[in-house]
Amino acid sequence: MKYIEEFRNPEKQRKIVELIIESAKFINFKITLMEVCGTHTITIGKYGIRKLMPKNIHLVSGPGCPVCVTPVDYIDIAIELSKRNDVIVTTFGDLMRVPGSFSTLEKEKANGGKIVVLYSPFDALNIAKKYPDKNIIFLSVGFETTTPSIAQTIKFAKRERIKNFYILVGNKLIPPILEFLLKKKEININGFICPGHVSVIIGTEAYKFIPEKYKIPCVISGFEPLDILYSIYLLLKCIIENKIVVINEYKRAVKDKGNTKAKEMIYEIFDVCDSEWRGIGIVPKSGLKLKEEFLDFDVLKKFKVEVKRKIKNNKCLCGEILKGTKLPFDCPLFGKKCTPENPVGPCMVSSEGTCSAYFKYERK
Ligand code: SF4
Repeated sequence: MKYIEEFRNPEKQRKIVELIIESAKFINFKITLMEVCGTHTITIGKYGIRKLMPKNIHLVSGPGCPVCVTPVDYIDIAIELSKRNDVIVTTFGDLMRVPGSFSTLEKEKANGGKIVVLYSPFDALNIAKKYPDKNIIFLSVGFETTTPSIAQTIKFAKRERIKNFYILVGNKLIPPILEFLLKKKEININGFICPGHVSVIIGTEAYKFIPEKYKIPCVISGFEPLDILYSIYLLLKCIIENKIVVINEYKRAVKDKGNTKAKEMIYEIFDVCDSEWRGIGIVPKSGLKLKEEFLDFDVLKKFKVEVKRKIKNNKCLCGEILKGTKLPFDCPLFGKKCTPENPVGPCMVSSEGTCSAYFKYERK
């Protein structure tokens, strides 16, 4: 198939749903498949895929929304930095409404905080050149998909000797969080629908440990409804035939080794470190930190920032939702106190957040 319409063809979708229903009859236990990526959650909601599943096939959403997993402290530090007269904080728009302990970047901007929304980290360098008397800080979050362009920006800044550009590092890696969920066993996952965008960079090989070590299959999926339905069918087929492997359904974009240049770029600038995931906690080797030779770009080496964390008890279940152990419907605030207009937790902020996607497409 070449064209987008082909991946949305209702007749083909119907045939694959039939195959899924037939396959499910060969399985006499509850199957839980986790779609890791927020964009998959949107497609599943938008095209009603969850509702088409047979009774014993459960689709749960995972931790693949970078905004949702950004810790409270990270937002608090960014807000503190934006209050300094000698600083301009720059960020992707998604982070603006993520709640910190007391406020959001959006509210701080409305109150005069120096915060600029960008589409590319390179734009932050242009701001740095334009305002040499200010310190320009880029809020560096995202998974393997976003990180290469941030690494490239830092490399460029070093080469151009831009001295007033810094990043607040919050970048994370997908395979370690999947391993964390499998090790924790809070939820019995029978298969992963792996994220297409991230896999373009890391390749199919990055998931080999899942079947080898944890004996469950995974399918790297594209983002169209046909991609997802076919990925679900492939996972069921693997389970029925006991063929526990990694399958690449998204061959039109993903290679076995991924994008080696992009991976080299990441690891030229960053080292792997433990990292905090919001609502989940510290996940070993799941984050990135600047290598020693690039530490001049680390804003926390330049400024000492202290934040007071407010103890919250707002019943937000984002941590559980990101692990797949609860659904947005289980949260007492869902659709009441917490809506996309007034998000209480991060999963309601980004359009890729599970609560936001459920609010838009799957409200009962
Ligand atoms: S509905 Fe809101 S408060 Fe509840 S888990 Fe989702 S984001 Fe958190």
